[in-house]
Parts: sequence; structure tokens; C-alpha cells
Amino acid sequence: MRPHNMVEDHVFEIADRLTAADAEFCGCMKCLTDVSAYALSQVTPAYVTSDEGRNHALARLQSPETTAEITLRVTEAIAAVKSHPRH
Ligand SMILES: [Zn+2]
Repeated sequence: MRPHNMVEDHVFEIADRLTAADAEFCGCMKCLTDVSAYALSQVTPAYVTSDEGRNHALARLQSPETTAEITLRVTEAIAAVKSHPRH
């Protein structure tokens, strides 16, 4: 199993939800990708290489604290991309 960053799945999911809810967000593929990349570079990664590691990481990622942190980072990323779009 190659190392997988479990944080990615959560960032993509939250980014999809928050950008879809923001009527002022561009929504083109470039802006969406930039939001995920910006947020991912701010959040501590959670690399796993086994099913056991995956379960541990999932439990941590689903905690309210981690969800709140990822939501905050994605919100910051959306604001940054909106003020400086690269499309
Ligand atoms: Zn765009």
C-alpha cells in the first residue's frame, strides 16, 4: 500500500461543500483545485500505510476539532482564491 494522505479526502469533501454553497465563488476547475491545494498545504497531513493506520486517522479526522480546523483552512483558501483568482 502506498502512503495515502487521509486529510486529502476530507479537504476535498469540505471544499466541494463550501465552494458549492458560496454563490460568489467562481467554481471553475482551476479555482476549485487552487482551494484544495491551498487548504492542504496548511493542514497537518495524516499519511497512512495500513488499514489499522487508516482507522486511527479516520477517528482523528472525524473529531470536531479536526473538522473545525479543516473547515477554517478551506474557508481561508476560498477567500484567498476569490481575491486572487488564477484562471
Ligand atoms: Zn475560476
